[in-house]
Amino acid sequence: MKRKTAIICDFDGTMTVKDIGDSILKHFKIANAQEIEKSYSLQTNFEKWMREKFKKLTAKPQEIEKYVLSIVQMRRGASDLIKFCKQNSIPFEIVSGGVDVYAEPILKKLKIKVKSFFGRARYSSDGYVLEYPFLDEKITLAQFKMNRVQSYHRKGMRVIFCGDGTSDLKAAKAADLVYATKKLLKLCKEKKIKCLPLVTFSSLQKSL
Ligand SMILES: [Mg+2]
Repeated sequence: MKRKTAIICDFDGTMTVKDIGDSILKHFKIANAQEIEKSYSLQTNFEKWMREKFKKLTAKPQEIEKYVLSIVQMRRGASDLIKFCKQNSIPFEIVSGGVDVYAEPILKKLKIKVKSFFGRARYSSDGYVLEYPFLDEKITLAQFKMNRVQSYHRKGMRVIFCGDGTSDLKAAKAADLVYATKKLLKLCKEKKIKCLPLVTFSSLQKSL
């Protein structure tokens, strides 16, 4: 019998075409392109970086919602894949270093309801305080993503991981099959991790 499959998917730049968090920081002039590029270095603690930047963001949640809904473009096939997974009892979860203040309005608009891990943003007039309830000093975002892959392995399942960034690398190494784009695709090639290029989610769905 074929092993059951679970899918773990990053959000920014993977489920969405562009990185929404980065777009917000650029649009509200919190970080420039160069700083954002640096945040993707394997040496950067991504969650610490996000906390620092969102602390400087003073736009109200409604402004952020309006902005993200005006720019968001989902990767083709995302909603269909999620529907397919629901119908076929295939676990699908989002594991993201992004935050609820922008992810929730997007998922709500698209009527996507899946298990997901996002940071939580608390708004005050002097910036957002971010919390990552699933991370601590010992567990970085990259490790947490890898832990999610391993938790399905422990259940005897095969895991497909989709991602685009440096914090997806550990999870990609641990997964059985990787769909990668952008930085992750480059890193996987450099490190000889077997992966398929993620363009739309349709080919992934066809393979299930
Ligand atoms: Mg990403």
